[in-house]
This record gives sequence, C-alpha cells and structure tokens, in this order.
Amino acid sequence: MQLTNKDAFSKVEANYPKINEAIIRNLDEIIAIRRDFRKHPELAFEEKRTASIVASYLRQWGYEVQEHVGGTGVVGLLNGKQPGKVMGLRADMDALPMPDEISASYKSLNDGIAHTCGHDVHTANLLGVAKVFSEIGLEKGTLKFIFQPAEEIGQGAKAMIDDGVMENPKVDFMAGLHVNPTLNVGEFSLTNAEYTCGAVDIFELVVEGKGGHAAHPHLAVDAVMISAQVLVALQQIASRQVDPLKPVVLSVGQIQGGTKGTILPNTVTMNGTVRTLDPSVRDQVPQSMEKIATQIAEAYGGKAYLDYQKVTPSIKSDAAARVALSELVVDLFGKESFKWVNPSMGGEDFAYFSQLVPSVFFRLGTKSSDDTAYGNHHPKFNVDEEAIRFGMTVFSVLTQRYLNEEEGK
Ligand SMILES: [Zn+2]
Ligand SMILES: [Zn+2]
Repeated sequence: MQLTNKDAFSKVEANYPKINEAIIRNLDEIIAIRRDFRKHPELAFEEKRTASIVASYLRQWGYEVQEHVGGTGVVGLLNGKQPGKVMGLRADMDALPMPDEISASYKSLNDGIAHTCGHDVHTANLLGVAKVFSEIGLEKGTLKFIFQPAEEIGQGAKAMIDDGVMENPKVDFMAGLHVNPTLNVGEFSLTNAEYTCGAVDIFELVVEGKGGHAAHPHLAVDAVMISAQVLVALQQIASRQVDPLKPVVLSVGQIQGGTKGTILPNTVTMNGTVRTLDPSVRDQVPQSMEKIATQIAEAYGGKAYLDYQKVTPSIKSDAAARVALSELVVDLFGKESFKWVNPSMGGEDFAYFSQLVPSVFFRLGTKSSDDTAYGNHHPKFNVDEEAIRFGMTVFSVLTQRYLNEEEGK
C-alpha cells in the first residue's frame, strides 16, 4: 500500500528494524485479509468462517492452535527460545446485526450483518502480529494470541475464560485495543484511571397497579403514573446517593404499558441499562433502585419488581502497564501521537480478562478523511487501513518489551 505517513515510522525502523521490516513485508496481505473479513461478517458466536480462516493462517505460520475455545474462539501459541512470562494479546471477531453502507468493494455480502465496530480490523491486526513473530521468532517467554467471539453481546471473553484460555500456560499479562474514529491515524489514547470502561448492567422493572377506567382513577392503581414517578426518582441515585466523583449512568430506553388512552393498564414494564466504573457503585445502584421503585409503588398501592442483571464488569487497567504503553507510543511516534483520555461508559468485554491479570487496553486512531470519521456502529463506519501498521507495530513492540523485561520488574 501507499503510505502517506512515511516519516512516522523512522524511530521504529531505527530501533526495531526486524519488526518494522516484517510488518512492511506483510502489510498488503493483512489488509487483504481484513477486507475479506469485512466482506464476510458474522454475528456473535457464529464466527465460524472467520475462526477457521484465523486457525488456518496460524497453523500455516507454525503456531500451536486450539479451536472452539468458548464456542468459536481460537487460540494460537508461540513458545520463545527461553522460558519466561506469558503474554496474551486479544482480538474480537464478531460483527453487528445492521446494514453495511460503505461504498468500498469489500462491503458486506451478508445482508443485515456488518463489521461496523471494526472487529475485522482487530482480527486482521492480531493475525498480522502473529505473522510478524512467526517470522522474527520469539527470544523469551510465550505469546498467546486470543481471538474471541461475541464481544458485542458481552459474552465471548467470559466463554473463553470458562473454557480455560487463561491457563496452560497461565497468562501473566493481557493487552487489547479498539479502533477509534475520533482519533487520527497514528494517534493512540489511553485512560489514566484504574477503571477505564463502563461496567454494563441491564434491568427490567415491572410496576404493577390495578387496571381500570381512566375516568375513575380512584378505583384503580395507576401503574403509568407510578412508573413516571419511579423513572424520575431513579435519576436521583446518581445525583444524591452516589459519590459525585464516581460516575453512574442509569438510562431507561424502553417503556411498555397500556393499550388505549382510556384504559389504565395493570402493569408497566421499563427496560434500561446501568453503567458504572467503580465496583462498589455497581453494587450500590441496584439496591437503591429496588428501594426507590418498591417504596414509591407501595405508597400508591402498587408493587414494583426489579430484575437486575450484571453483564460485563469494567476494564481494570494496570498502572505500570499504562505508563509503559504511553512511554512506548511516545518513544515510537512522538508526544503528539499520544493522548490521555477520560474513561468511557461504553462496555467492552475485554474487562473479563482484566479482572484476572494485569492488563492494558488502548484506542487506535483510524480517521484520515470524512469517509473514516463515522462513529463505531454507524452503517458507514470504516477505517484508514494504515492504522493497521500502527496497531501491529505497537502490539509487536509492547510484546517484545514485556517478554524481554527483567523478572520482577
Ligand atoms: Zn461495538
Ligand atoms: Zn467493538
């Protein structure tokens, strides 16, 4: 490919010549693989084609491969010449149930399924890193490539962990990335906080009243009115009950109840999501919700039932790894290429890995024009593929630095 940013890699070329040469040698192939994935997207836990392509490349490149880990997950293992630490690198493989509206030749062929979160890029990028190490070899330690299914439904990472992906050999450190169109190609960002991505919980709240004629509310218990009061009161959890320095989002995205304006329904059902960063706040919110909802409902003669489900925890970020990654990016690409950013309340199921071992999760810039400025999950989402060179470089150098580090450091 034609690189627009020739000078950006001068330090990589000088300090990590083998990695740099291997990436240049393989970049075209990796970009072709990415386009093939974009063209053939698959939904969560249905990534059969993607997984078998990943597995066959890994085998071809000399990796020890395990398939069907946590459903459609794939693991590739590479042992270094000397024993040492075990580093895990993760990519997610699933696409979204939505149309693909890009005009490129590699637009989705699967109707109603699209790689609009960029997991095609993550998968190709990680395969690229696997190719690099298959060519330059690994001096020390072990490298575990983890290709997970079903990130979009928050279940793939956990499924792989339950299937033993973090054991045999036991992973010591995990790294992951996500493509991000708010950053330009060549830019990286990282959150300088212990918890970096929102814990995702969902809930269903049913308010039960007593149905009746809307003209005679005194003979009924109005579940619609109770729901309205509960909905407003729930917002006071964030403003009055939780430490204002610890964020919480409580959103109700769906309310269902009633059939006609003149009939008071028996029940109203609300569905929503709660996002938090701090685990103690995550435990506090459902208790408050239940109390507020049941007691307001009771005050008006009704009842409320809360079904609250924890889906994904927040990503825990290792302090030393954050510093190491920020220094690495600045060393390679200069100060302007790195930004510290606030945590996001969006969820990422990389969180499950980060709960088990020290981890780092960063954002990779992918924007260079209007075509690559659409947000993740937008039907026109696309990336500038030069970002893959940056992604492969940072993963490769991070791996080499981590595995060659002195023990105990
Ligand atoms: Zn997504
Ligand atoms: Zn994503």
